[in-house]
Amino acid sequence: MNQYDVAVIGSGPGGYVAAIRCAQLGMKTAIIEKYATLGGTCLNVGCIPSKALLDSSHHYEDAVKHFEEHGIDIPGEVKVNIEQMIARKQGVVDQTTKGVQFLMDKNKIDVYQGLGSFKDATHINIDSEGGKTETIEAKHTIIATGSKPSTLPFIKLDKERIITSTEALELKEIPKHMIVIGGGVIGLELGQVYKRLGAEVSVVEFMDRIIPGMDGGLSKELMKSLKKQKMKFHLSHKVKSVERKGDEVIVKADDKKGQEVTFTGDYCLVSVGRRPYTDGLNTEAAGVKLDDRGRVEVNEHLQTNVSNIYAIGDVVRGAMLAHKAEEEGTLVAEYLAGQKPHINYNLIPGVVYTWPEVAAVGQTEEQLKEAGVDYKVGQFPMRALGRARASMDIDGFVKILADKATDEVLGVHMIGARCADLITEGVTAMEFRASAEDMARMSHAHPTYAEAVKEAALAATENRPIHI
Ligand SMILES: Cc1cc2nc3c(=O)[nH]c(=O)nc-3n(C[C@H](O)[C@H](O)[C@H](O)COP(=O)(O)OP(=O)(O)OC[C@H]3O[C@@H](n4cnc5c(N)ncnc54)[C@H](O)[C@@H]3O)c2cc1C
Repeated sequence: MNQYDVAVIGSGPGGYVAAIRCAQLGMKTAIIEKYATLGGTCLNVGCIPSKALLDSSHHYEDAVKHFEEHGIDIPGEVKVNIEQMIARKQGVVDQTTKGVQFLMDKNKIDVYQGLGSFKDATHINIDSEGGKTETIEAKHTIIATGSKPSTLPFIKLDKERIITSTEALELKEIPKHMIVIGGGVIGLELGQVYKRLGAEVSVVEFMDRIIPGMDGGLSKELMKSLKKQKMKFHLSHKVKSVERKGDEVIVKADDKKGQEVTFTGDYCLVSVGRRPYTDGLNTEAAGVKLDDRGRVEVNEHLQTNVSNIYAIGDVVRGAMLAHKAEEEGTLVAEYLAGQKPHINYNLIPGVVYTWPEVAAVGQTEEQLKEAGVDYKVGQFPMRALGRARASMDIDGFVKILADKATDEVLGVHMIGARCADLITEGVTAMEFRASAEDMARMSHAHPTYAEAVKEAALAATENRPIHI
């Protein structure tokens, strides 16, 4: 029987990063993945393919709507070749997942393909597709089995027309009318893809705002911008049935006043969140406890109630984000190596890759108000930037929240072009406990979108932005 210092179950961004860090620190490491390709949700059916389609659809939209204004004439009609678009996306996924396989080989990590399940706290059975079962022994195990799309109890996903994000990444045609249930990150990103490609898109959301959980100012600005792009929003609507009739999908919901509203489309994307995934893992055999939401329970070291078993990523509490899973993978590896690693969960940035992009780190205004913190706000609109006008991406703003007494930055919230990349400045500043004045006094290259960060910091410091 093969023996390991560490076995990692699941090869998503949490699992494969944990495995690499364990190997770097000298531990004999195995990784177990039930699918044929490594990389988990993120690389196969999540972050990477969704960004590939967002980019392709953005190019199309630019060609149709903006090229002429830039002085670029395209003779003939610009058309979408959905088959090629999906094939390119798959090419990107294939390259990326192969890259993970390369990293496993480079770090001498043994890869087992098959479903991992606990035999007991130190032994894992691996059932591969051919019906073969192999058992390995591991001093430590890291559960990194991730999550799956969740649904509502009355919805029957047929995966053809009533679909999750996984199928939405593989459509063979452009929907005429896509009804998106859930105005969160995934629904908006994929909704925008198909809107750009020509579908009518209606978002039906239970809450009174989209991207709930992010700063209210960002929700409002994003909805304004997406409405300009002709996406439709139905907030405070409680979906009560989803039915398929031939090629039609009928969604019924109650609005704020309790009145029934019917939506008819040809596709319904159910994007109401994700659930932790432990099916088939046989956690009971190891004695590992789950909480009432099906997540593996962990302490601050990400250790379960069984001392040699750890859990990370989407399968434990906290934000379901790839970079959060990666940090946790690193933390467990370093903890096992006797180091004293630490994660500041307040500084895990959240990003929505619509265009305009939305990104945030730290506390929202709503959270600061609730906590009774005395704070000040500095906000700067993207449209005041030369860079934004040069590229005609003028929607959005940067907002910096700072402590009124100490000037320490407590939150950075932004919406606009390239914010997914810009937010790192906020993370860095907050990691070093910068004041708004520290950020304001740093030189920012001109002309860039980053100048909005400096200006917002100036506004927060002494209310003295230069360019408005
Ligand atoms: C459409 C979409 C877009 C997204 N976009 C982003 C984004 O832009 N940025 C971002 O940060 N996050 C994004 N996410 C979320 C991100 O994908 C997840 O947070 C991340 O993948 C979680 O990583 P993980 O390692 O915990 O689990 P996962 O990536 O889910 O990986 C778990 C792996 O474990 C395997 N597994 C499960 N059980 C077993 C078992 N018993 N034996 C063997 N293998 C098993 C699974 O097959 C899977 O490969 C997106 C998600 C979706 C669906």
